[in-house]
Amino acid sequence: MKTAIVWFRNDLRFRDNHALTVASESEQLLCVFCFDPRSFSSREYGGKRSFRYEKTGHHRARFIRESVEDLRTSLREMGSELVVRHGTPESVVPTLAAEIDASAVYFHTYPTVEEIAVERAVADRASEATPGIEIESFPGHTLYHPDDLPVAVNEIEDTFTAFRKGVEGSNAAVRPTVEPPTLPPSPTFPSGGLETGTIPTLTDLGVDSSTPDERAVLDFEGGETAGLDRLERYVWERDRLREYKKTRNGLLGSDYSSKLSPWLNLGCLSPRTVYEAVKRYERERVENESTYWLFFELLWRDFFQFQFAKHGSKLFEQGGIRRRDIDWRDDREGGDEDAESALERWKRGGTGIPFVDANMRELNESGFMSNRGRQNVASFLANDLGIDWRRGAAYFETHLVDYDPASNYGNWAYIAGVGNDSRNRSFDIVWQAERYDPDAAYVKYWLPELDGIPPEQAHEPWNLSPAEQNRYGVVIGEDYPKPIVRPSEKTD
Ligand SMILES: Cc1cc2nc3c(=O)[nH]c(=O)nc-3n(C[C@H](O)[C@H](O)[C@H](O)COP(=O)(O)OP(=O)(O)OC[C@H]3O[C@@H](n4cnc5c(N)ncnc54)[C@H](O)[C@@H]3O)c2cc1C
Repeated sequence: MKTAIVWFRNDLRFRDNHALTVASESEQLLCVFCFDPRSFSSREYGGKRSFRYEKTGHHRARFIRESVEDLRTSLREMGSELVVRHGTPESVVPTLAAEIDASAVYFHTYPTVEEIAVERAVADRASEATPGIEIESFPGHTLYHPDDLPVAVNEIEDTFTAFRKGVEGSNAAVRPTVEPPTLPPSPTFPSGGLETGTIPTLTDLGVDSSTPDERAVLDFEGGETAGLDRLERYVWERDRLREYKKTRNGLLGSDYSSKLSPWLNLGCLSPRTVYEAVKRYERERVENESTYWLFFELLWRDFFQFQFAKHGSKLFEQGGIRRRDIDWRDDREGGDEDAESALERWKRGGTGIPFVDANMRELNESGFMSNRGRQNVASFLANDLGIDWRRGAAYFETHLVDYDPASNYGNWAYIAGVGNDSRNRSFDIVWQAERYDPDAAYVKYWLPELDGIPPEQAHEPWNLSPAEQNRYGVVIGEDYPKPIVRPSEKTD
């Protein structure tokens, strides 16, 4: 009797799940998800001056819980079960495997160092506990299967354009999604029943809960069901894909971009599922620059995944793959109190630069920030404040509902000039604000204290005279902070 275990990770879906499909050929199947305590605690990040940060804040913790609940419901509807444990995978999975005398453990693999270390530990301990057990992992987080790239992953180009041209100029094809499987029954334990386990609450996980902010662009509900609904709504009901390229730099509202990233990163949706929706839309409605552009952005996502597979831990290091030695202010011997206080102001959205503060408040309150916003706040922290980019990346890691190690650290390194681009990525924040928020509607949405200021002055409130401040009902330095620094005027 072949009994397989599927260890679910960032692949919380029933559809297009290669590990689940292979495992469903066994006679018995045990599906397992572990709430790893390490993901819900603080972590030390090294450097000349190391720092600690929380791995998962409440926005993403809630999204993960909901996704696990949804997966459990789907598996139950298919006559199966999801066993949930609060413990490290390398202790939980091998123990369960030994208990039920499993013949195989299947799971998806990820390109980043912490994830790889955990999967190695699971494989080693499962093989010790159950000699002869088959361990097989599958890539399922990217649009392209790594074996289908025109070159081996460790030879891919380090710049996006070269990578993209290489892929597009080759015969590489996106593999079709796999059909949802019929699931075999769960095994019985020697003790009799199957201890399914309860899904921990946020309090159990040690994460503060909070009520969702009504101003959020979307109520990001975790799970494959909600992810498929969002895809259906954005592509088919709202019909927004046809103008994605024009709207994707937006800042307000649910539909300027797809907002699919949280579901993609937790694996509630596979990138191939999104790709197939785009292709069907092109056949049935319209094929244009915008439909291509969503594919283009998914390629960016793949690019960072494969970069981490190629460069490993280097992309998490201060000097990045360029090994650049930048004199970050917060990393100097003896510390720099001004830098620490600037970092705290950046985090809470109190820098006095409206475009930065509005975006940071959106992140804090909702767990989301637009791509345009992310580029600007990252550039401001690293390039204007001169603060180690990893402090910002770690802050994003805690708070983003769509955090993904490769997408986050890859983009941060890129903007800080230590990653996959040798150009100066410094943004002119005021120019950006005036261009992408010309009527100041976005900054006023998140910073209501600036409501009375005319749009043409709202992005630089430090220039208001005392008489103007009086007229517009805002005192700079009291109702809204004075700028921490004047943002530099560089090209974007
Ligand atoms: C400093 C910084 C940090 C970031 N951190 C993350 C992160 O942790 N997780 C994350 O998914 N994205 C991250 N991004 C990329 C991008 O901002 C988000 O993917 C995007 O804003 C998500 O919104 P969307 O789904 O509506 O995107 P859309 O514009 O609809 O794009 C569709 C999909 O393409 C992918 N994508 C788009 N742009 C990028 C990009 N630059 N890099 C990688 N993938 C991309 C995403 O999967 C996205 O869902 C970061 C960007 C910056 C500048």
